[in-house]
Amino acid sequence: MRKPMIAGNWKLHKTLEESSQLAAELVQQLSTINDRDIVIAPVFTALASVSKKITNSPIQLAAQNCYPAETGAFTGEVSPALLGDAGCHYIISGHSERRQLLNETNQFINQKVSATINAGLGAILCIGETLHERETHQMLEVLTSQIKEGLAGISTTQMTRVVIAYEPVWAIGTGVTAGDEQAQEAHAFIRGLLQGLYSQEVAEATRILYGGSVKPNNVDGLMAQTDIDGALVGGASLKAEDFIRIVKFES
Ligand code: 13P
Repeated sequence: MRKPMIAGNWKLHKTLEESSQLAAELVQQLSTINDRDIVIAPVFTALASVSKKITNSPIQLAAQNCYPAETGAFTGEVSPALLGDAGCHYIISGHSERRQLLNETNQFINQKVSATINAGLGAILCIGETLHERETHQMLEVLTSQIKEGLAGISTTQMTRVVIAYEPVWAIGTGVTAGDEQAQEAHAFIRGLLQGLYSQEVAEATRILYGGSVKPNNVDGLMAQTDIDGALVGGASLKAEDFIRIVKFES
């Protein structure tokens, strides 16, 4: 059985004080939950303080990015080990905003996934097609290369540290969600890819989250789908009430 995961990607939002306040509210409201993983990803500057707030709570910390080197002359970058040092359990790699705005390639993202795992942390690998790719029937091809290239060199054992997040780009921040069945179809396809690349065992054990306009009013339908194991939530993770409702999904 795959343990569901609900992760909040705060993106570039919230001051130190706002981040601490939201974390404190989540701790208060979610302290008894243990049948699903709860993850929040604040901005870098808030990681250490949020980490202190969520100590001894079921909430785990994630970073929104990393640089795939341990140490060295990489001005402005942060290594997975230092993010672990700041309290992170997970690092998100391959978010479509970074693929688009910063031209991140599957190869570079793969280095980050690998560095994250080597630092003993969990990797959340984001993939997803653009509207143009979907409309021109390239979706399966795009997802296939994002998975194959993003996971290149990652062993079966290392896959226990990997979570995939399927985020169709056209559904991010648009209020347009993939329909439950549309999302399920993509998730089943991704699970099939994992089976082909690894084994049925790995495919069945790997969590695949859905992301893209997940809200309190659509989370239950999404979570009822066989191959949807959780959600990566943007906008709705910024408001305690909404995120708490999403964490408490019923399916
Ligand atoms: P929204 O939930 O705001 O659509 O963002 C999704 C996302 O990009 C999470 O990583």
